[in-house]
Amino acid sequence: MDIIQAELDELRRICQKSVPDSTLITCALAQVRVQIKKSDFTCVTACFTFPKDYPRHNTLITCALAQVRVQIKKSDFTCVTACFTFPKDYPRHNILIELKSKTLSVKLLDGLVKVSETEAQKHLDRPHILPMVKFINKFLDENPLSCCADEISEVKAKLDGEERLKLSQKTASMSLFLKRRQYFLKLKFAVPPNYPIQQIQVVNADSNFPRVFRVWFVAQAQEVARRCVEPPLRPKPKAPPFKVRPSFGSACSFLIESVHRYPDEICQICRQKCFPEDPEQAIHDENAAAHVERVYCSHCYHHDCLILYMKTPPFEGGKKCIACKQKIYHEIWKVTPELAEARWAHEQAKNRELDEVVDFLADMGDNLVKPS
Ligand SMILES: [Zn+2]
Ligand SMILES: [Zn+2]
Repeated sequence: MDIIQAELDELRRICQKSVPDSTLITCALAQVRVQIKKSDFTCVTACFTFPKDYPRHNTLITCALAQVRVQIKKSDFTCVTACFTFPKDYPRHNILIELKSKTLSVKLLDGLVKVSETEAQKHLDRPHILPMVKFINKFLDENPLSCCADEISEVKAKLDGEERLKLSQKTASMSLFLKRRQYFLKLKFAVPPNYPIQQIQVVNADSNFPRVFRVWFVAQAQEVARRCVEPPLRPKPKAPPFKVRPSFGSACSFLIESVHRYPDEICQICRQKCFPEDPEQAIHDENAAAHVERVYCSHCYHHDCLILYMKTPPFEGGKKCIACKQKIYHEIWKVTPELAEARWAHEQAKNRELDEVVDFLADMGDNLVKPS
């Protein structure tokens, strides 16, 4: 018991000084917690902590030999409470560690417990707790991506083939490589120190999709991430109160879905694949006939196919997407149904005039007296 007593005294003295992010929550030679429950509502937990000079002759008390709890806090999100329990033959056997966190992934904590207990083996016959607090603290410092451990597993599960997610704990960043057929998208994400309160940032992007798509992938991924951390300007009437959500997984889901979808997307007018098999042949010129236009509802049309469709009646109620019947919105085609109707009428009138001229000329031709 003297060894434990000495270790507790030492912890009280130097734990918080040695590991500035730590807070010593409990450091008692013995602690008793008794729950007295009369009903789900009438329920009290009594915690007894023994002062140093407590007469320790009361045999009725069954309790842990000693208890130490240390909170290690890197940010509001990355915050762990380490609970240490002394085994009977401590310090010949390693201390038992339990890690609790309201926010960090259970899988990550389980893994951290395992490596910590292995680490504790190195300190047998000496005090364990302070080296363990330092070890856990160092792990959290050196693994800033700990705050998105669950999201990382989820994203990895969605990747296939050559696709990969590479982590860089050193720079608190991740590189995502996505590919469908010969089309790829490569993105680098930075995880801010107060993630997930602050959203994930896309810092670099490379792709062989046409420029419009690459720009849209990045902008939309940032937008999806923003919506995870900022409440909507006009919340829906019955929506529950806004809560910040981790943004990395949501942004990646959008990207994975889009990169897997668009290389196989067909033009709704001509029913041909929008993108050529070979990305080298992809059309980057935004005014070219075969440039791919993605309209608001997410369906695709070739540039010229879309223009032809938009210029052809019926215009009633606005032009609708052939695939999903949603109104077509496109930044290069902001025309009201009335204007489209007027333009169509004008075009038709011009064509009629032209036809009349052609007919007239033809008649003229027939009636022309060939010079002899
Ligand atoms: Zn087409
Ligand atoms: Zn559509």
